[in-house]
Amino acid sequence: MNQNPRIHYTKPSITELEVSYAVDAAANGWGEHCYDYIHRFERMFREHIGVTHAIATSSGTGALHLGMAGLGIGPGDEVILGDINWIASAAPIVHLGATPVLVDVDAVSWCLDPVKVERAITPNTKAILAVHLYGNLCEIDALLDIGRRHGIPVIEDAAEAIGSIWHGRRAGSMGAFGAFSFHGTKTITTGEGGIFVTNDDALYEKVLTLSNHGRAKGETRQFWPAVIGFKYKMSNIQAAIGCGQLERVHELVAGKRRVFEAYRRALGSLPLAMNPEPSGTTNGYWMPTAVFDPGCGFDRDSLLSEFREENIDGRVFFWPLSTLPMFEPRPENLVSLSLSQRAINLPSYHDLDQGGIERVTRIVSRHAGVAR
Ligand SMILES: *Cc1c(COP(=O)(O)O)cnc(C)c1O
Repeated sequence: MNQNPRIHYTKPSITELEVSYAVDAAANGWGEHCYDYIHRFERMFREHIGVTHAIATSSGTGALHLGMAGLGIGPGDEVILGDINWIASAAPIVHLGATPVLVDVDAVSWCLDPVKVERAITPNTKAILAVHLYGNLCEIDALLDIGRRHGIPVIEDAAEAIGSIWHGRRAGSMGAFGAFSFHGTKTITTGEGGIFVTNDDALYEKVLTLSNHGRAKGETRQFWPAVIGFKYKMSNIQAAIGCGQLERVHELVAGKRRVFEAYRRALGSLPLAMNPEPSGTTNGYWMPTAVFDPGCGFDRDSLLSEFREENIDGRVFFWPLSTLPMFEPRPENLVSLSLSQRAINLPSYHDLDQGGIERVTRIVSRHAGVAR
């Protein structure tokens, strides 16, 4: 049995600051103060991302569900997204009775390929869902241009892209709306949680009503829902933790970037690619990922078991959604099918130290040596 301490693939960075806010919310955040931290968190988040509206939610999935419902996505509609994705991006589409259209991803960004998006548009296309995978940015200008030409909104799933910046604009601030997640594995956390953001006043009003069980702002009758809505609210105690995290967001992103840079220095000469950072952009590097070159003999399962023997968590790359039992197979999505077989995520919590990073890179290097 390996005696080295376990290296978790991720864990949150919680300090006295978050603890003191949570304690304050638990002790005092009731009655007329029951929304104080929620409103403060929403204001801080708006300022951080650079948007005019934000609604804190109980999860990233809930933020996506609310926003898509606000856009009127429903039965008979199609929403285009990349085949390689976590199920949370696709599930709300299905819940609304619409169809996820899974297109192949780009080999370098691992995100939507604009050429393939445009080819997938039909008269039923209701939205394009741009997911910034592992912190990597989608080709958002090309996608927004396609959206404009076809009259289709582009949604940003920025759950993994805190700290990612596209030519001066933050991920999540550029589309019809953005959704973020504060699950315990994400760059900033509230335990469970998420947020919906937008610059569109009308969409904001619609989603605010939906998020409040269909009760419109300004409705004077008590308990009077005008439509069937949702209940995806963040609690004040969670928001209190989030306020502490947001005060530290630059430090937390810097931690992620430090870990990634250390991996890249150690692994850069091996036959593998890591998260790209095209010029003019910043990658928040939520999850440092190694994609081994095709034909180099990489064996994912044996690398993962070498990690396990050394008490290190490894994580498989997301499966193509089209390989899951509830979706139609997409054998033409060659990039997605190949990528997911050749890639793993590396441990990346904010304060992973140099010794820990070296334990990881030693194994990856040894494996790549064998693979070659
Ligand atoms: C984590 C994540 C979500 C879902 O967030 P939850 O808070 O877990 O509901 C959605 N999309 C992406 C890309 C994610 O990584």
